Amino acid sequence: MMTIENRTTIEAKDVSVIEVRCKCGSSVTTPLGRLNSEPSECPTCGASWSQFHEDLKKLTDLASLLRSLGSEQAQALPFSLRFVIASGGQQ
Ligand SMILES: [Zn+2]
Repeated sequence: MMTIENRTTIEAKDVSVIEVRCKCGSSVTTPLGRLNSEPSECPTCGASWSQFHEDLKKLTDLASLLRSLGSEQAQALPFSLRFVIASGGQQ
């Protein structure tokens, strides 16, 4: 019996928005191209995130990396990068 495996993949340029979700349920969404500084608090409940600055800094670093990987220069490389999205319990 033939098995058909569906895989969902994305490329760096497919990431358009990064969302930071607060435990209160609200979220801060920022377009990747404009994520240059970390959010310091939840805009809804006002919880301070400043003590997690180092963790949130990774977010801006990630945004920077994704912008670089999705840039036109990266498109000219002789290879491409794709991220596989886990789904339905498959790895
Ligand atoms: Zn909140």
